[in-house]
Amino acid sequence: MAAAVDYIPDKKPTANCSSMQQKSSSCCRLEGKVAIVTGGARGIGEAIVRTFVQHGARVVIADIDDAAGQALAAALACCYERCDVSVEADVERTVRRAVARHGRLDVLCNNAGVLGRQAPGDKSILSLDAAEFERVLRVNALGAALGMKHAAAAMVPRRAGSIVSVASVAGVMGGMGPHAYTASKHALVGLTKNAACELGRHGIRVNCISPFGVATPMLINAWRRRGDGDEDDDAMAAPSSCSSSSLDVEKMEEVVRGLANLKGATLRASDIAEAALFLASDESTYVSGHNLVVDGGVTTSKNVIGL
Ligand code: NAD
Repeated sequence: MAAAVDYIPDKKPTANCSSMQQKSSSCCRLEGKVAIVTGGARGIGEAIVRTFVQHGARVVIADIDDAAGQALAAALACCYERCDVSVEADVERTVRRAVARHGRLDVLCNNAGVLGRQAPGDKSILSLDAAEFERVLRVNALGAALGMKHAAAAMVPRRAGSIVSVASVAGVMGGMGPHAYTASKHALVGLTKNAACELGRHGIRVNCISPFGVATPMLINAWRRRGDGDEDDDAMAAPSSCSSSSLDVEKMEEVVRGLANLKGATLRASDIAEAALFLASDESTYVSGHNLVVDGGVTTSKNVIGL
């Protein structure tokens, strides 16, 4: 059994809004807003939480990793709620408490997701595990739908809000992830468009982001276990108490750079957080139903003629 790794977040030295002598519009882009970030305890979600807080939002971290979520909440002076996004009562309670505590909900970031088991012998559709397929769909697709349902209920009376989901390049084209994960992310992209269609009349925007590979625990664990064949690559497989390895992050980033179309850059969680910030903020005020693909062009091209 391979040891799980912690994620070492790339922390950009951005000034906190409350500590700024002079607030510029480019700094506090979420000033006064209340946001829930699911899966916010680590990885891409953690980067989104940090960025939202830096830009003045009051953030509720919603996750199932209590230790990491509580530690991050304490470090950033925000709130943590235990919330399994695949359980409706958890999602409903998280939204209700956020509104009770802060009086409103402006932003929901549906970031929580699982990759699913990836044992080498399990990859084929011929050996599809129905229970595992359902588990991945429940977290990645149903979880986001439940978030949209309860966030929208809080947003409709105020006739404003932004729902941002983290989908994937696996929701854009085939061959980017396991079958269940790919199905779930395609579902999420479709759900985003449908929810945007309905919620537009209430002034609520619904968008998603589709990242290429980011060296988070999800990707690193999958990569490290690619030969093991018996491990779960997901949430609690890399508890926050495990030792961290910047070497794993570097190696993973090198692997992703090798697969990338755009050279000379490394995709990091902070890049996805910047995309989420744009879609959450009033700067994207007329953007809805959009899938913001952050992949350096990898899903838009296949160089068959040797360009
Ligand atoms: P990660 O595994 O590093 O972090 C996921 C977080 O979600 C963890 O804090 C985990 O505890 C939480 N989580 C898992 N199941 C949950 C549940 N049922 N309810 C609440 N929280 C739960 O993953 P990541 O790489 O940071 O991925 C974040 C999102 O980005 C996911 O939706 C993922 O599919 C997507 N994504 C990641 C990549 C990548 O390369 N890392 C690429 C494309 C899309």
